[in-house]
Amino acid sequence: MIYYKTVCTCCRETFKIIEGTKKYEFYKRNMKGKFVCETCGNKIYLEARKSLISKL
Ligand SMILES: [Zn+2]
Repeated sequence: MIYYKTVCTCCRETFKIIEGTKKYEFYKRNMKGKFVCETCGNKIYLEARKSLISKL
């Protein structure tokens, strides 16, 4: 399995970006970008959705 290892900008944990995923394609194009792990990604998504709902 091909993957990159990078540090989550949110929790500072090292995580893998596995080949074939959208994140991997994104990482290949922009290796200096900010990346978050699956857990933080979901958290951010849920938080964003919550704040969006509370604004409605
Ligand atoms: Zn994280």
